[in-house]
Amino acid sequence: MSDTTTTHYDAVVIGAGFAGMYMLKRLRDDLGMNVQVYERGSGVGGTWFWNRYPGARCDSESYVYCFSFDDDLLQEWNWSGKYPEQPEILSYLNHVADRFDLRSGIQFNTSVTAARFNDDSGLWDVETDQGDQVTAQYVVTAIGCISTGQIPQIPGLDSFEGEWHHTGAWPHEGVEFEGKRVAVIGTGSSGIQSIPVIARESEHLTVFQRTPQYTIPAQHGTVDQAFLKEVKANYRQILDEARHTAAGFPYDASETSALEVSDEERQETYERLWEKGGFHFMLGSYSDIATDRRANDTASEFIRQKIREIVNDPETAERLLPRDHPFSSKRALIDTNYFDTYNRDNVDLVDIRHFPIEEITPTGLRTADGQEYEVDTIVFATGYDAMTGTFFNIDIAGRNGRQLREKWSGGPSTYLGVATADFPNMFMITGPQSPSVLSNMPVSIEQHVEWISDFIEYLREHAIDVVDADPQAEVDWVQHVSDIADQTMYMLADSWYLGANIPGKPRVFMPYAGGVGPYRERCDEIAANSYEGFVMSDAQEPVLAD
Ligand code: NAP
Repeated sequence: MSDTTTTHYDAVVIGAGFAGMYMLKRLRDDLGMNVQVYERGSGVGGTWFWNRYPGARCDSESYVYCFSFDDDLLQEWNWSGKYPEQPEILSYLNHVADRFDLRSGIQFNTSVTAARFNDDSGLWDVETDQGDQVTAQYVVTAIGCISTGQIPQIPGLDSFEGEWHHTGAWPHEGVEFEGKRVAVIGTGSSGIQSIPVIARESEHLTVFQRTPQYTIPAQHGTVDQAFLKEVKANYRQILDEARHTAAGFPYDASETSALEVSDEERQETYERLWEKGGFHFMLGSYSDIATDRRANDTASEFIRQKIREIVNDPETAERLLPRDHPFSSKRALIDTNYFDTYNRDNVDLVDIRHFPIEEITPTGLRTADGQEYEVDTIVFATGYDAMTGTFFNIDIAGRNGRQLREKWSGGPSTYLGVATADFPNMFMITGPQSPSVLSNMPVSIEQHVEWISDFIEYLREHAIDVVDADPQAEVDWVQHVSDIADQTMYMLADSWYLGANIPGKPRVFMPYAGGVGPYRERCDEIAANSYEGFVMSDAQEPVLAD
């Protein structure tokens, strides 16, 4: 607890991952504001502070998974892996915190419990679990899109005598798997990264799979030094290009339909990109695999054929084949030796789509067909209450005490994913209905941080105290987000993008699928038009922005 008297800040920022760190730098160092960041962890890093599970690594290649705001930082940092591994990303973020003296603006081990807009003062009243009670003109949420883990409500977990962990809250001291019988529940990004590593370390691994997945090999390795040299010579240009693409990667996007080439040519393209690895397969193969079902079928079938080739046991291969949703309708997965892992003698695959886990017993798990699986350790790779869950963990109230939980009870409603009407002076970095999770996150984070800080600078220059999203602009944006989503494969799977992984959550597509380039242009146009779609007022008199 820092102090019992009310302290006032120009801005409170919630979270000290990529987003909160850069927001602090912009508001404090560039705009000269008095800023307090609250962070629930004991260090910086956000996602990368918590996700220490075996094999944790980013699917963005390291040379583009970084801040771009400082040329010296870009030049001096050297990644060792083609893809950045969790310990290295965390070292990078600690380096950034040291280099820009960010820790002095962050209060660690502190969760914001409430943020309530005070209609009388026009300020936010903010409270933390450490007893802080402060006021702030602006509240900026930098809480991450995927930070509230979900553990399925399976009866009996309390009785389990072994240890269990969720991938997103992994013990800092690590987990010992040697000689252990382990269960991993879940085969999303976290599951498919950790399963091959746990299989190597443990005595026996049982994977509990609800939905078979498409996954593309990362083709991970060390950084190609010649490539890195070339990148560093052209870094600014490469990163600027990435900002205007669909997903924030400086990759060549195909303009060819999968349906306009011969079967041989298509097969050759898929093979080449499978060998190249990672998101190149999805972004660089054909222009319509994310939008046209027949085009998509060609990619989906290619991957199914790969699974049949890699997995030796035909019955296991059959269980691993994704058939109920098209490729890229869920978050595309990138793996290292995932399907090969099922050729190991110490690994079994259990289908819990047909026979769900009914109970966790003191010694293991029991499925609906009566099978008992004795294990020492359970790993929940069962995902997150994404996009909105972390907002709802905080008591956020806007004008007239209106609760955010209540406003968003039918799904999130925002203007640009940056603001939500009736919650004045609250900005969200990579909030729902912005490109966020459909992009290389640092690109989207930087775009929001820079746009928000430019906006705050504008407000200060124009002596505007209070800004709010215009409700009609918000309605129009929500409609646009939904119209774009309807043109994609995303609507054809039960994914966390749609909230389908959380019982009772409204089924609404939450990120913006229109691409980071077009989104950036739209945001820039809005700024150039004096921030149209926002209602601005000084302390007394509300005025509509022109
Ligand atoms: P996820 O993608 O939501 O996967 C959760 C897994 O648990 C799915 O296989 C899901 O099955 C299963 N599951 C959930 N509830 C279950 C239940 N009640 N019973 C049985 N199975 C259940 O979660 P995640 O793997 O943690 O990844 C979340 C997101 O974080 C990713 O999509 C990605 O955006 C990000 N992430 C990225 C990286 C990376 O860059 N490499 C790594 C990790 C995470 P269903 O498919 O049937 O729902």
